[in-house]
Amino acid sequence: AIHPRPAARVGQSALRAKSIIAVGSGKGGVGKSTVATGLALALRSFGCKVGLMDADVYGPSVPHLLGLTGRPAMTESKRIAPISVPASGKAPEMPVMSMGFMVEPDQAVIWRGPMLHGSINQFLSMTEWGELDYLIIDMPPGTGDVALTLSQAIPVTGSVVVCTPQEVALLDAVKAVAMFKKVNIPVLGMVENMSGFRCPDNNKVYDIFGSGGTRQKAEELSIACLATLPIDIQLREAGDEGRLAEVIETNTNAGNPLKRMAQSL
Ligand code: ADP
Repeated sequence: AIHPRPAARVGQSALRAKSIIAVGSGKGGVGKSTVATGLALALRSFGCKVGLMDADVYGPSVPHLLGLTGRPAMTESKRIAPISVPASGKAPEMPVMSMGFMVEPDQAVIWRGPMLHGSINQFLSMTEWGELDYLIIDMPPGTGDVALTLSQAIPVTGSVVVCTPQEVALLDAVKAVAMFKKVNIPVLGMVENMSGFRCPDNNKVYDIFGSGGTRQKAEELSIACLATLPIDIQLREAGDEGRLAEVIETNTNAGNPLKRMAQSL
């Protein structure tokens, strides 16, 4: 279900997307990049043309999750050519842009406010995204700077807030929801990640970080809980090894909830 709205145009930029979805979190390490990347992959598995922008400039992990390396080239029209995940079956190729392509992996990037603002705008406007059904944006955790920049630059369709069922994570997630609302980005819903672990030895579910807390919190806030993902060793291994594309397509533990969520957007 693609939002029936005119494609967004950013000034003279090459960004044309029917729907722009920002994936955020209150704190780091809750699986935001995994969910953002997984959601993009789930959408493309239905044949949608999806772009993925890694706006987590402080800790760009999207290239690693997808096993993408290289330096983006300049096109003839002086735009940045993104690095793409190759097409696979009915899934079209997926252009990806990340600060991770611009800096050495072990290089620290120190951003001041105006630089951050400038780099996000450049990413959006200079990347040759082509015609997209969806642009998925992996946001930096917590802070509102990037959300504010985005909300001023492009018509963001909505946001998704990822958290674990732990009380501390939920408190930060509530702040992330408030932050998106403050910059007038509608909150489409929350995702509960790392919700229980089914032990393969005895098939029992262990609630390592708890479970169900996100659904409850979402209800309190009158927003949807869009998906619940269990702790999944295959998902973690695939992320570490740059094989997320492969595992989202085949792994039902992580793939199915993300595909159901993708269908609901
Ligand atoms: P964030 O973007 O919030 O910092 P990441 O997506 O980088 O988080 O995930 C942090 C770590 O947790 C990664 O190693 C990732 O593979 C792992 N991870 C994320 N979600 C799950 C899950 N559902 N099951 C197992 N490991 C996960």
